[in-house]
Amino acid sequence: MKHKQIFNHMSPYKPGKQIEEVKKELGLDRIVKLASNENPFGYSKKVDQVVKDSANHFEIYPDGYATVLREVISSDLQVDLDQLVFGCGSDEVIDIICRVYLEKGTNTIMATPTFPQYKHNALIQGADIKEIPLLNGYHDLQGMLDAIDTDTRIIWLCSPNNPTGCIINQPSLERFLEAVPEDVLVVMDEAYYEYIDRDDAPDSLSYLNQYPNFIVLRTFSKAYGLAGLRVGFGVCDLSVANVLNIARGPFNTTKLAQFAATEAYRDQDFIQHTVGETNKNKQTFIAFLDEMELDYFDSETNFVLVKLPVSGDALFDYLLSKGFIIRSGEALGMPNSVRITIGEKADMDTMQAHIRTFLAEHEKEDM
Ligand SMILES: *Cc1c(COP(=O)(O)O)cnc(C)c1O
Repeated sequence: MKHKQIFNHMSPYKPGKQIEEVKKELGLDRIVKLASNENPFGYSKKVDQVVKDSANHFEIYPDGYATVLREVISSDLQVDLDQLVFGCGSDEVIDIICRVYLEKGTNTIMATPTFPQYKHNALIQGADIKEIPLLNGYHDLQGMLDAIDTDTRIIWLCSPNNPTGCIINQPSLERFLEAVPEDVLVVMDEAYYEYIDRDDAPDSLSYLNQYPNFIVLRTFSKAYGLAGLRVGFGVCDLSVANVLNIARGPFNTTKLAQFAATEAYRDQDFIQHTVGETNKNKQTFIAFLDEMELDYFDSETNFVLVKLPVSGDALFDYLLSKGFIIRSGEALGMPNSVRITIGEKADMDTMQAHIRTFLAEHEKEDM
């Protein structure tokens, strides 16, 4: 069979290590996963009850319009009901966007390193990729503008950026949107929106009226703690939503996921708790990194990308042997670094002690 040529040069997504797999390999009872930026505090307690109550009539298709979830979010964000497009995670919204706007002969612009799904899905559609290196973890917005040509269809902004955690501030976003041609779609992926704690962060949704070529992506997988249920959404102009909905599968979010996401969205106290605890633990972790004289990128997220005097793989292997799964920078396009999700306080304390030992051993080897 003859699949598209491009598949000869691509490989399937390689997920981080699974907890059960590591437990078996190492014979450890408890594994702490700080690799995928999931919420260590779980999710709203109210979700379990709703899921239990709604776990019936699986023979019936879900509501393809996600009416209740749509109403709750649109009224909170003060956008039209039809400005929302839901996906099986924001991953699927990214895929839908690529299917609608990209084909052979077009190109798309993104930072590097950034979230890999933009490039992955764009390649499948046959588009050319223009990757603009980050500047100290931040998007090089002028470099991205300079890369635009008549075949450019989409520009991806990841803010805060995965894997660095750096945001695009309000004046920069404003200047950027003003400069981008109106027939080029600007995607702003705000998967970590809830964690942002900066006065100069943009109110991204406020630009939707002025710029119909702008779309904002949000997800229930990170601060809301529902990564396992797969719900994300885009907020955009009605004209964009209309075409995205043509490409969207009719029943792409499940009934359980819709119920859970609705309840999770209503419980903003839980989000406040999550963000408060995360920021506290992040401050402690950053103070530890300062003490260890390790450099790191500015992060407005629940993870920190730490620069190392050794390969990321070395610290990854060491911490894995102690029961901590983190993400090596080598796999993320950032050699000699690791990306660590901020976890619960006790786990962070234990992990910091392991890192301290690791660095001391490394220094001895160097002498
Ligand atoms: C985790 C993540 C996503 C994917 O979220 P899902 O909604 O789980 O598909 C999208 N973008 C970025 C930058 C992420 O880090």
